[in-house]
Amino acid sequence: MDNIYIILVLLIVVALLSFLSVNRRYLSISGAISAYAIGLILIFSSGVFYFVMLLIAFLITNLATSYRIEEKIKLKLIIAKKPIRDWRNVLGNGLPILFFAILEYFFSSDLFIFAFLASTATFLSDTVSTEIGVLSKAKPVMITNFKETHTGRSGAISSQGLLSGLAFSLLFAYISHFFFTSINLVALLFIVVVSSTLANLFDSLLGATVQINYYCDKCNMYSEEKMHVCGNECKKVSGYSFINNHVVNFISIFLGGLLSIAMALVLP
Ligand SMILES: [Zn+2]
Repeated sequence: MDNIYIILVLLIVVALLSFLSVNRRYLSISGAISAYAIGLILIFSSGVFYFVMLLIAFLITNLATSYRIEEKIKLKLIIAKKPIRDWRNVLGNGLPILFFAILEYFFSSDLFIFAFLASTATFLSDTVSTEIGVLSKAKPVMITNFKETHTGRSGAISSQGLLSGLAFSLLFAYISHFFFTSINLVALLFIVVVSSTLANLFDSLLGATVQINYYCDKCNMYSEEKMHVCGNECKKVSGYSFINNHVVNFISIFLGGLLSIAMALVLP
């Protein structure tokens, strides 16, 4: 009988969080439904700790997006009064994380705890890097040739973005130690931060090379979407049409998890 009450409370809490995400315009309705499904699967397979860690990462990314949002709207990096993330974003970021959590549920191996935390840290650091990096006073450079480029362009990196991503990855790994106490703290910090940072750089590399890239003539800006923030239809400049930002996120977050498994196996 008690179990039924706990399940009911969890269902209501996750529903409430999804509702608040829509209300605060963090997620579209499709995004909230996807997030609700991921949240419930995570809770009822791996457990509440996994859900709490993913929720912490999600909340930090939203704080990073909200940080100096008026400037981002002025810079045409965000559309005012429109939900920030939809179902494609939620699934691109959430599915690799969920995958590693489910593997841990079936195999009860620390390797998959590392992979879950590293993939979540990749999602977190990638988003924080972007959201803080676009506010950098110094012009970003392309990861492929280190030449100065437009703010907000896929594959553009800045020291401000990289350092903030790294700092939040470290913070995230540190917080996770309170829930996953059986794992050595030094190994946890090292593996999660290094694998998420490498995956984050790989994300930028894919962004600069194979990811579909558009250009808006009206604003003289690069865009990840065909329809620019201003409403103008952009022209394609590089990359493959089937590799959009969400596909790149999926690949790099998955890679973050795999790298952490490889590191955990190799390190003494
Ligand atoms: Zn435009």
